[in-house]
Amino acid sequence: MQIVEYRKNIEPMRPYVPGRPIEDVQREFGLDYVVKLASNESPFGCSPKAKEAVIASLEESNYYPDGNCTQLRDALSKSLDVAPGQIIFGCGADEILAMTSKVFVNPGDECITAAVTFSQYAASVVSMDGKMLFAPMKGDSYDLNAICECITDKTKVIFLANPNNPTGTIFTEEEQEAFLKRVPASVFVVFDEAYAEYVSDPSYPKTLPLLKKYKNVMLVKTFSKIYGLASYRVGYGIADEEVVKLYEKIRQPFNVTIQGQAAALAAYQDLDFMRESFESNQAVMKFYYGELDAMGLSYIPSQANFVATDTGHDSRVVSEALMKKGYIVRPSFIFGMGITWIRVTLGTLDQMKGFVSALKEVLSEL
Ligand code: PMP
Repeated sequence: MQIVEYRKNIEPMRPYVPGRPIEDVQREFGLDYVVKLASNESPFGCSPKAKEAVIASLEESNYYPDGNCTQLRDALSKSLDVAPGQIIFGCGADEILAMTSKVFVNPGDECITAAVTFSQYAASVVSMDGKMLFAPMKGDSYDLNAICECITDKTKVIFLANPNNPTGTIFTEEEQEAFLKRVPASVFVVFDEAYAEYVSDPSYPKTLPLLKKYKNVMLVKTFSKIYGLASYRVGYGIADEEVVKLYEKIRQPFNVTIQGQAAALAAYQDLDFMRESFESNQAVMKFYYGELDAMGLSYIPSQANFVATDTGHDSRVVSEALMKKGYIVRPSFIFGMGITWIRVTLGTLDQMKGFVSALKEVLSEL
């Protein structure tokens, strides 16, 4: 029996391959202790206040959520000094990226991103019959000039992650300003700052004020990373009100759950918890760099909560061997990097001590 004829443009698309769930790996390899360092989740959990808010909100489980995310919207709008109507909420930042192509991309339109970056940009564009162009990198970083050189009169959206996933590199405020001057007003630019809260480099851009100047810019953020709420799927975009109205037209009516809204609001207001997570991430990163230096392994200094690490061996073999020892990481060729690289999400200090021992064992056996 044949299935119903489907849109052929989805033929080249591949389902997203997530980091494997802990229980899966436990079952397959008969392991009690498994650490997932594969999806850039926060190992420090979320604010206790977010947990309390979720528990309180369980009473409302029988109701649809507030599709407007009113309380969360008000809190963000006040603290970021943007109009409430400038914010679009999504089921994770992923949904904001998907909505972007639904708003802007006609069949045959071109969009641009970098050769080594987050896979969902291309998925979003291709799903709308658009064509994604991948500009070459400059070493481990984005080459914003190369991206500009890809612009044609067919270009609709440019997707940029800053910090970039999987490299952890950033472009600076100066580079961003020069780039925006070169981009025509007819091209929409998404600055995906999912990892912004981890950045320590003072040259990192302040994107928010640019929204006053550019109607063709969106800033994308998430509660999945430093806020430790990946399971609740809450992300948002900030742009000009007129643009956000377009996103509202195509948004699913109840795309952020009551629990997600409650957790995000409480987590957003717990600045102390966020600061602790930032500091812990910095401390773990320092430890990990020290160990890699001692092992003589190369890595890309990161402004996020993960570190691209060159194992010097086939990363498929290395990551499989690490998995058997209970550590789930991602081979980075799936993100466009060289075959010997893995992307390691930073865990807690104890988890990373265990990981480093496992990595040493694995590499000594190869
Ligand atoms: N942007 C980047 C650069 C990411 O790495 C991720 C998650 N891996 C996302 C967006 C999506 O985040 P969310 O969980 O909010 O959908």
